[in-house]
Amino acid sequence: MAFTRATGKHRAPSRLTRRGAQAAGIAALATTGVLGSLASPAAAADSEAPKTAESGLTQAIALDATLAQQIEAQAQAQHQQAEALAKAKAKAAAEAKVKAAKAKAKAEAQRKAEARAEEIREEKARAARAAERARLNAFHLPVAGSHVTTGYKTGGSLWSSGSHSGVDFMAASGSSVVAVGAGTVVEAGWGGAYGNNIVLRMTDGTYTQYGHLSSIGVSVGQSVTSGQQIGLSGSTGNSTGPHLHFEARTTPEYGSDMDPVGYLRSHGLNV
Ligand SMILES: [Zn+2]
Repeated sequence: MAFTRATGKHRAPSRLTRRGAQAAGIAALATTGVLGSLASPAAAADSEAPKTAESGLTQAIALDATLAQQIEAQAQAQHQQAEALAKAKAKAAAEAKVKAAKAKAKAEAQRKAEARAEEIREEKARAARAAERARLNAFHLPVAGSHVTTGYKTGGSLWSSGSHSGVDFMAASGSSVVAVGAGTVVEAGWGGAYGNNIVLRMTDGTYTQYGHLSSIGVSVGQSVTSGQQIGLSGSTGNSTGPHLHFEARTTPEYGSDMDPVGYLRSHGLNV
């Protein structure tokens, strides 16, 4: 391509034109292969490039294979570690579960043992209370070791009713007379034909009477326990000799008598 001015006139080209020409020249160079020849060494180098690239690739592939193996091995190791960890965790969890179950069973056994011990203590306390109650409630013969000499409802001129309203217990003068059971003194003093006599209201609401006493040891309103001495036997009142006249009644009054032997037997005494 000839370097000609586009205008064809002899005058200095305008700066714009010169710049345009320079630009055109560069453009021409670009199209004439000058630039192409400049690029040729690169093209020449391209002939060796495949070898390098290939060997690089091979190395890369080889490296990749090793790396893949390493990664695989690492992954496997990690997997194994994770599995081992999971197994260890599971084992620990199982052991913890067993331990917790054992601890729970132990606590439960201890709780049961304590409950049983408490039950036994309560049973013993109940038994002790029952024994104490039984002891307090146990009846006694009005004169220890004595026996009935004259029975209940025995006929005879001695009694104003014509019939014995109680029983007579053998008792030498001055023998200890005791309350047959727990109760309260409702009468203590002279009782006419009964002489010195005591009437007790028992805890079950019945009454007992003790007659012909030589002395009275209690006063009205006093509480007495079973077997407690309340006086001494004698022969006061309508009596032929020392003995204890004993009555069981439904009320404190004369005439409400019941069988004293049956009464004492019903309270466990062997009369
Ligand atoms: Zn009598």
